[in-house]
Amino acid sequence: MQLIFLGPPGAGKGTQAKVVCERFKIPHVSTGDILRESVKAGLPAGLQAKAYMDKGELVPDEIVIKIAVERIQRPDAKKGFILDGFPRTKVQAVSLDEALKKIGAKIDYAIYFETSPEMSISRLTGRRVCRKCGANFHLVTIKPKKEGVCDFCGGALIQRDDDKVETVKNRLKVYTSQTADLIDYYRQQGILKTLNGDLGIEEAFGIISDWLKSR
Ligand code: AMP
Repeated sequence: MQLIFLGPPGAGKGTQAKVVCERFKIPHVSTGDILRESVKAGLPAGLQAKAYMDKGELVPDEIVIKIAVERIQRPDAKKGFILDGFPRTKVQAVSLDEALKKIGAKIDYAIYFETSPEMSISRLTGRRVCRKCGANFHLVTIKPKKEGVCDFCGGALIQRDDDKVETVKNRLKVYTSQTADLIDYYRQQGILKTLNGDLGIEEAFGIISDWLKSR
């Protein structure tokens, strides 16, 4: 099962990808997560990417394509994967198609998480992440048991630099100008599914599971 989760930042792709991946036992491939880990580890790709990420701009295609293609070729991705936040440009989408063709695979569905800019802004600016384990919380909707402390590992909860309001607004602009066209790209391939990104986690999971069962 090969899926793409598409949609603006803050549409709930990452949260839902974690749930689907855990239940279907497939890897969650988030280029944003991989890039953040590379920044933390001081790897060359991370050092090149950091300035773009801090501004909410897209990291150059060649860097991201290399990361994503390498990841989906690993043995654990043979049984499937969810791509979350990749592709984000037409060049990335075409490179992905070519890479999949080489390994005899194809995307089953591109699931488009549709939501309003207001919802995206409120989700992202209220998001807090654990510095240690990366778990996500929200000031209003997913409060930790103890303020500022991760429920899972006790790490400190912080706001991602790119979740500050001005950067969020830029990320949404970048999405509209560079990524939104991919909705048509996958619609034309006949594999687009549209999901209401404002649904709760379990409700959205139920709909996605039904799609996957009827595949
Ligand atoms: P995300 O966690 O998916 O919101 O990604 C965080 C940031 O990482 C984005 O704002 C971009 O700077 C960068 N990034 C992640 N995935 C991509 C991609 N497919 N293409 C370009 N930049 C990306």
